[in-house]
Amino acid sequence: MSYLSNDQIEHHFHDVVIIGAGGGGLRCALQLADANHRVAVVSKVLPTRSHTVAAQGGMNAALGNVNSDHWHWHMYDTVKGSDYLGDQDAIEYMCRAAPRLVRELEHQGVPFSRLEDGTIYQRPFGGQSREFGEGGQASRTCAAADRTGHAILHTMYQQNLRTGTHFYDEFFALDLIMDKDGCQGVMAWDIAEGRYHLFQAKAVILATGGAGRVFQMTTNAHICTGDGGALVLDASLPVEDMEFFQFHPTGIADVGPLISEAVRGEGGYLLNAEGERFMERYAPTAKDLASRDVVSRAIALEVKAGRGCGPNKDHALLKVDHLGKDVIMERLPNIHELALRFADVDCTKEPIPVMPTAHYTMGGVPTNRFGEVVYAGEKGKGMAGEKEKVMPSLYAIGEAACTSVHGANRLGGNSLLEIIVFGRACGDQVIKHLEDKNYHAKLDPDCWKDGVERVERWLSDDSNESIRISKIRDEMQKVMQDHFSVYRTEEVMAEGVVLLEKTLESLSSGSIEDKNRIFNTELVEALELENLMALARVTASGALARSESRGAHARDDYPERDDEQWMKHTLASIKDGKVELDYKPVRTIPMSVESFPPKKRVY
Ligand SMILES: Cc1cc2nc3c(=O)[nH]c(=O)nc-3n(C[C@H](O)[C@H](O)[C@H](O)COP(=O)(O)OP(=O)(O)OC[C@H]3O[C@@H](n4cnc5c(N)ncnc54)[C@H](O)[C@@H]3O)c2cc1C
Repeated sequence: MSYLSNDQIEHHFHDVVIIGAGGGGLRCALQLADANHRVAVVSKVLPTRSHTVAAQGGMNAALGNVNSDHWHWHMYDTVKGSDYLGDQDAIEYMCRAAPRLVRELEHQGVPFSRLEDGTIYQRPFGGQSREFGEGGQASRTCAAADRTGHAILHTMYQQNLRTGTHFYDEFFALDLIMDKDGCQGVMAWDIAEGRYHLFQAKAVILATGGAGRVFQMTTNAHICTGDGGALVLDASLPVEDMEFFQFHPTGIADVGPLISEAVRGEGGYLLNAEGERFMERYAPTAKDLASRDVVSRAIALEVKAGRGCGPNKDHALLKVDHLGKDVIMERLPNIHELALRFADVDCTKEPIPVMPTAHYTMGGVPTNRFGEVVYAGEKGKGMAGEKEKVMPSLYAIGEAACTSVHGANRLGGNSLLEIIVFGRACGDQVIKHLEDKNYHAKLDPDCWKDGVERVERWLSDDSNESIRISKIRDEMQKVMQDHFSVYRTEEVMAEGVVLLEKTLESLSSGSIEDKNRIFNTELVEALELENLMALARVTASGALARSESRGAHARDDYPERDDEQWMKHTLASIKDGKVELDYKPVRTIPMSVESFPPKKRVY
């Protein structure tokens, strides 16, 4: 590394550095910048291209504008939806805060759709009840047509421009700068200029979004490569519950783009090849609006039973035309366009072909409800809640984090809520932290080296015989798709773990063709593949070890939930190149109400 010395790295000082400019990162930045802190937002894409922009259906809050509702029912639905793996203190906090924060968004400028009386439009979504148990359907999801994420992200961006947040767009975070006192900053690569930057901060917040790209077929944007989780693994810290990946039941067949649950909320329903509305058999009460894990499994079972549609009998049909063109164009214009563009189907006339598609990362960087990154003690001793330790000056929010409000399965509409609620909560916690942390730490003079090495390894490699990274990525995604999808078994997963280790080997001898420093997208893909690979490995190991079915983790060989053995969170880390698993208990005690004890989940 002789070509480079410390003074060739641009050194920045901020109070706080937030990695990620999605809804979570921007809501948090707003809280901090409004409190007059010097905030930097580092993002590998322009902020308004973050995946939050793709969120369609809406955001949950018990406003009760359509049907009677209460935050306590929202909490109950979320605990039940999580298959009792969610942390109930964080869930209570989120559901209580929801109505106030939706109204705050309205005042900040989010153009929500309206009901006739002028209040915020709310639609029914999966897993929503109006009573504890099997009550009526609540309409809890606040929507701006089917472009809710777009509306929220743009509003948050504009608000941050007002407050003077510093944006570093198209900067790729490479490495966390850690020392004995916690996290001191981050090394980043300026993609456009091909230069290194060291961001020193009194607090670092990971808001890097999900990791859907570990799978071959996903609704997630190409940028959803789980970089935050990988940064944390690289810092020898664990990630939590990565085996729980949500498969959305209605991705467009064979291509993946999402057809929002809002379609079923507005009255659309699923059909099999026999024209049967099969969800009535699997979930007699909630039918097509049962939670996502239930609907995805039902589609997989219909296909397995030979009742799949199309020439390959591999998908279901989503019927919407009966809603009428006016409703479709007013409430679901984006869906109409997506179906036309990706499936060549005019949904005002014919049904849309759909199949389960990787959609949401329930796991992530472990945090408490203040966004502080936590880790358990030594292996074996980490089981007691009080042994959990906070990593100073490091925070995580949004889909990158595992707070864990979604547990084993997320309810639709709870993620836009999560990013706003915990973006704000984390901002408040960091404001307190900054009261005591007046100075930037003195850094180890070599602290930049690991980050630089990550990039230079790819740019300096000149072997011609090595394997191209696009090929390795395809292999890795295929292994994940074939071995860790909607249904899992010991044999298939064990084989998957072995295959993943093989692809890891090819990565170590992988190479890129483009050695340019300026806007080298192949280099960015290589860095992202390293991140994806780390997350795929911990996902696979966690899934293989968990011998039960819970939420999104459904095993043919262990079809029942096993609360005695498995009502606990997985903590996976990578030590000396090997995946290590540890566990910690679920936080079953809420903040102020009684706990919801585990029950059989029926919809
Ligand atoms: C198609 C789709 C539809 C959805 N619909 C809904 C819905 O209707 N309701 C709902 O509640 N949820 C929905 N979700 C989920 C929800 O949108 C996401 O979970 C949420 O928006 C994630 O926000 P975030 O701020 O955590 O991350 P994101 O919005 O994903 O942003 C991540 C940010 O991190 C940055 N980043 C990542 N890695 C790096 C790096 N190495 N260096 C620098 N920057 C980096 C990116 O540039 C980006 O700015 C949907 C998701 C998808 C994919």
